[in-house]
Amino acid sequence: MDPSRLPHRDLTVAFHTFGCRLNQSESDSLGGGFATAGYTVVDPATTADLCVINTCSVTESAEADTRRLIRKILKKNPNTFLAVTWCYAQVGVDALRKMPGIDLIAGSGHKMLLPALIQNALGKGFGKLSEPLIFHSPKISKDDFTLPTFAVFNHQTRPNVKIQDGCDFFCSFCIIPYTRGRERSRKFDDVLLEVSLWAAQGFQEIVLTGVNLGEYSCEDRGLADLIIALDAVKGLARVRISSIEPTTVSPLLLDYMGNTKLCPHLHLPLQSGSNNILSKMGRRYTREDYITFVNEAMDKVQNLSLGADVMVGFPGEGEEEFFETVSLIELLPFAYLHVFPFSMREGTRLTRMGLQNVPSSIIRQRSQILRDLSKKKKQTFYNAAIGRVFDVLFENNNAVGVPTFYSGYTDNYIRVRVRSSTNLAGQLLPVFIMGVTGDMAVGVLS
Ligand code: SF4
Repeated sequence: MDPSRLPHRDLTVAFHTFGCRLNQSESDSLGGGFATAGYTVVDPATTADLCVINTCSVTESAEADTRRLIRKILKKNPNTFLAVTWCYAQVGVDALRKMPGIDLIAGSGHKMLLPALIQNALGKGFGKLSEPLIFHSPKISKDDFTLPTFAVFNHQTRPNVKIQDGCDFFCSFCIIPYTRGRERSRKFDDVLLEVSLWAAQGFQEIVLTGVNLGEYSCEDRGLADLIIALDAVKGLARVRISSIEPTTVSPLLLDYMGNTKLCPHLHLPLQSGSNNILSKMGRRYTREDYITFVNEAMDKVQNLSLGADVMVGFPGEGEEEFFETVSLIELLPFAYLHVFPFSMREGTRLTRMGLQNVPSSIIRQRSQILRDLSKKKKQTFYNAAIGRVFDVLFENNNAVGVPTFYSGYTDNYIRVRVRSSTNLAGQLLPVFIMGVTGDMAVGVLS
């Protein structure tokens, strides 16, 4: 970087984001902070003055991906000011500080202050540094929070809005309580303000995100209270919630699904259908609890779309445990599954439990069985929509790749494609579903 270009009015910043929807939402918010400070946010493929890597630490291979990307960026652009932040910066600060070429490392307690931290560093005349500046505290605050900056742009149709961070559940396999700290919630009014800003920009749907979303609680107001408050936001048509722990979904939340702006869509991590494995995972429900909850939700919520994460090859998972998972999935009306082959994460409780690892060839076979099952479930769910009319929110980009086709999602998360000679991007329109091809429903505007 050329220090003669300070102050930073014409500097560019590129974000490289790994991991979950929450990371994406936080990158978007930080992009807003940098834009407000005068930077231009550019595509990550561009050679930028500053690169921010928003890392994931959920598996060791996610950390290896970060290290690979750091080397790749520096090879292409050795002069870029490189900032590494989020989960890997929190738990892997010692490994990162030894990597040449990193200029700034910001752990979880400091990440949302990145524009100011970098501004200060550059304001003192820093170009590339011989040693990284490190902003890191082993302890992460438990206080409720506001976000210092909001996204000012979003390339997606449905912005992710962060409302919660951290987790107190400490499942045996999970590093997140260590990387993101304990549960805390974003201030109620701060959430309302951000959502109102998105709606004023013309976005009709937002997705509420957090690590343990159902634990949202700010001054005695929970997720259901937030849904009611968001119902009053002008211009907003839909609120979707991202993944939510089954034990944290309140009856009130189910009542609101489909009866307010809250979409009838639940992504409920299952992880395993075996009580033996669920207990070793430290999950807070049994197979029977999960089945009861899903049956209640299906009875209560019309057109509910049910998705789940399933982990395959957790240590100690024998044939019997795996087929308990298969039988549970066959039993329940899932619309789709996200299948995750297990990989051990250093620093978690599980590493000390001495359980027998499952060979990787078996994990691959079992994952394939579940992916095939997921395809069948999705087909059944989509087929049930044929002959009916759903409102579809069309994507801002033409995802199908042919100029006259547009695709979007129904409130219950069916992807639908229609042919149109006018631009449908960003519009919420009724569509008659005629059939299903591949992984999409096909319809006509009705
Ligand atoms: S609920 Fe369990 S898996 Fe989910 S973030 Fe918390 S500890 Fe991790």
